[in-house]
Amino acid sequence: MDGSSAVVVGGGIGGLAAVIGLHRIGWQVTVVERASTLEDAGAGISLAANGLRALDELGVGEAVRNASRGQYSGGTRTPRGGWLARMDGSALERAVGAPIMGIPRSALHRLLRDALPAEALRIGAEADSLQQIHPGTVRVGCGDTVLDADLVVAADGIGSPMRSRLFPAHPGPAHPGPAYSGSTVLRAITEHPVDPGTDFELTWGPGAEFGHIALPDGQAEWHAVLNLPAGRRFADPLAELRRRFRTWYDPIPALLDATRPTAVLHHDVHELRTPLPSYTAGRTALLGDAAHAMTPNLGQGACQALEDAVTLAAALATAPTVQAALAHYDAERRPRGQAVARAARQAGRMGQQLSHPVAIALRNTAMRLTPSRAATRMILRHHAWVPPRLD
Ligand code: FAD
Repeated sequence: MDGSSAVVVGGGIGGLAAVIGLHRIGWQVTVVERASTLEDAGAGISLAANGLRALDELGVGEAVRNASRGQYSGGTRTPRGGWLARMDGSALERAVGAPIMGIPRSALHRLLRDALPAEALRIGAEADSLQQIHPGTVRVGCGDTVLDADLVVAADGIGSPMRSRLFPAHPGPAHPGPAYSGSTVLRAITEHPVDPGTDFELTWGPGAEFGHIALPDGQAEWHAVLNLPAGRRFADPLAELRRRFRTWYDPIPALLDATRPTAVLHHDVHELRTPLPSYTAGRTALLGDAAHAMTPNLGQGACQALEDAVTLAAALATAPTVQAALAHYDAERRPRGQAVARAARQAGRMGQQLSHPVAIALRNTAMRLTPSRAATRMILRHHAWVPPRLD
């Protein structure tokens, strides 16, 4: 192998996973993160078996499982509480070794940080240039500092400045950058333990979704997704949600009541709608949202970033050259990441975003008639991923 040092740009879930993977195969890695403090903020996140298996390969699966709660009961409902589909976490566990697990984002990020090699993470360091200075060397500039390496991993998120540098014409001058999905999401973790009755639910009304994930300490994360123009904000988001969801079945109003107003996060959902022509360029690999930012409807964005990280490390451990490893990484990851992104967009359009009463009635009937084994098979397409071995 003609390489052994890397700079990872971005210290999110994807970037930290990449550092851990590269360190495990013996590379020297530095990760630069532009944020100057790593706030333990954010709501909850669900990890499916594919993400958990990737974490196992990175050596942190057990710690993450211990800090998570298995999602065994729940499913998809109507605003009056009628069931459209039941989720069977035990069946998923039997099929792929794990149910969906719920964990606070802050806990996941902390566990990944704990597994980093000493001195690898530089915070308050914004990558502002990328240059191929030699066929085998790339240079990342961070203000006054330059970092030379055999490989750069661009894990700088949905707005990826690295992606804009590497693919300046993508996706075309008429549609620069990621596209707005048409939905905005508000979410929080409850202030105290609550009993939502089930572990994991999604409830679909016209152009709106309310969901919850049970967390290990009895608290729950909830999210509300609304069809709204980008940029629309509320003076009092919690009051607005109470108003919009007041007629929806309990525990939805109860989850809102158990939340501090200042805990509510509000983000518009964007996605990289036009697929990238490659996940690599020269000696740079794109990973996570930088490569395939997708809508959150399948809960797969971070799981795919974790898959990327393990696949990249495994390719670098086995291929004869960095270029060969990057070609393998692109061939393995691009079809999968882009297929999951398409499926997530489709799930959003048929689920939360559907607003016409006739279309909703047809969808609901189809869902009620779908046997639960067929629904589980559809989920397994995404969860049943087997990681390459790193040891
Ligand atoms: P990010 O987390 O965005 O990290 C990128 C990092 O790069 C940031 O820290 C940023 O500060 C840094 N950065 C950017 N530019 C620079 C620069 N020039 N120099 C240095 N640093 C830089 N996924 C799941 O698997 N399960 C879920 O349940 C789930 N729920 C979701 C719910 C919502 C509402 C949303 C929006 C997403 C959800 N996702 C979920 C998706 C998941 O959150 C993302 O896919 C994942 O966090 C992406 O991680 P990342 O490391 O690629 O990017």
